[in-house]
Amino acid sequence: MHNIAVIPGDGIGREVMEEALCLLEEICKTNSLLTIEWEIFSWSSEYYLQHGEMMPKNGLDTLKKYDAILFGAIGDPRVADEVSIWDLIMPIRKGFEQYINFRPIKQLAGINAPLQIDKDIDFVIIRENAEGEYSNMGGNLYQGTSQEMAVQNTVMTREGVKKASAFAFKYARSKNYKKVTSATKSNAILHTMKLWDREVASVSSNYEDIHFESVYIDALTAYFVQRPEEFGVVLASNLFGDILSDLGSSIVGGLGVSPSANINPEGNYPSMFEPVHGSAPDIAGQGIANPIAQVWSLALLLEHLGYEQPADAILQSIQHVIQEGIVTPDLGGTCTTKQVGKAIRDQVKSNL
Ligand code: ATP
Ligand code: MG
Repeated sequence: MHNIAVIPGDGIGREVMEEALCLLEEICKTNSLLTIEWEIFSWSSEYYLQHGEMMPKNGLDTLKKYDAILFGAIGDPRVADEVSIWDLIMPIRKGFEQYINFRPIKQLAGINAPLQIDKDIDFVIIRENAEGEYSNMGGNLYQGTSQEMAVQNTVMTREGVKKASAFAFKYARSKNYKKVTSATKSNAILHTMKLWDREVASVSSNYEDIHFESVYIDALTAYFVQRPEEFGVVLASNLFGDILSDLGSSIVGGLGVSPSANINPEGNYPSMFEPVHGSAPDIAGQGIANPIAQVWSLALLLEHLGYEQPADAILQSIQHVIQEGIVTPDLGGTCTTKQVGKAIRDQVKSNL
C-alpha cells in the first residue's frame, strides 16, 4: 500500500493533473495489485494570495508521511517567481534531500521534433541537484561604481559528487544502459571541476561493465544535436545539468512531453515527480495544455515505487495516442487536454 501526496499547483498544472489522476484511478481499478491512495493539497499561488504563504508552516511534516509527491506546476503572474520557488519547491527539494534531478530524454515516434534523424534517442540526464554552481555564496563589491565586481562561488563536495555519481552508475546498470557520460569543464574550471572529474572517475572504477567517458560541456552540447542516439546516462553538475536538460527535452519534442523527477536516492524522504513545464499562464484555462509530461511524470513515480509494469503501460499508451495523432496544438494537433487524457486512459487498459 502506497500513499501519494498530490500538489496540482497553478494554471495548466491543475488541468494536466486532473488527467494524471483520472489515469491513476483507471489503473488502480484495472490492476488490483496496484494499491495506491492519494491526497490532494491545494498549495499554490492562489493559496498564497489567501493565506500569505505557499504552504502551511508544517507543510513538510505533512508531506513527509507520503511515499512520493506528484507535483503539477507553480507560478502565477500575481505572485513573484521567487516566492513560489523559494517557499514551496525549494523547501521540498532541500528538506527532502532530493539531490538528484532525473530526466528521461526519449524520442517518441510521431512527434515532429527538430532533429530529423531516423535514430533511436533514448537516454537519461542525471543532474546533481543540491550543490555545485547554484550556491548562495559570493558577494558584490563597489556596487554602483565603474569598479563593481561580483564573485559567485561554486561548492562541490567529495561526498556530494560521489553520491550523484553512484546514483548514475547504479541506474545505468539497473536499466542496462551501456555508457555513462560525465559533463565537465576541468580544462577551464580548475578547482571544482577537477574534484568532479576525480570523484566520478573513482566511482566509475567500480562499474567495469559500463563504459565511462568524460566530455567537455561545450562539445557535449554539440554532440546532443549531432549524435544524441549514442548516449545512455549523462551525469552533470547543477548548472551543466540544467542547461543540458532543456537542450535534451527540446531535441525530442519540447515542454509538453518532458517529465522529471527529484529523487531522494536513500528513500528516507519522499521523492517528487513533476513535468518540466511551468504553469503556462498564456494557455491556462483554455483546455489545450498537453497532459503527456504530467502523465509521464506519474509513470516515473510508479516506476520509482516499484510498479514497473503499469509505468510501462502508461508509456506505451502515450506512444500509441501520439502515433494516432491524438495530440494537443503544441504537437501540431487539434485535441484538447481532456481528449488526450481520455485516449491515454482508454489505451492503458489494453496495455496493463
Ligand atoms: P512558469 O512561470 O510557471 O514557469 P511559463 O510562462 O514560464 O510559466 P512554461 O510552462 O515554463 O511557462 O512554458 C513556456 C511555454 O511553453 C508556455 O507559455 C506554453 O505556451 C508552452 N507550454 C508549456 N507547457 C505546455 C504544455 N503542457 N502544453 C502546451 N504548451 C505548453
Ligand atoms: Mg517557465
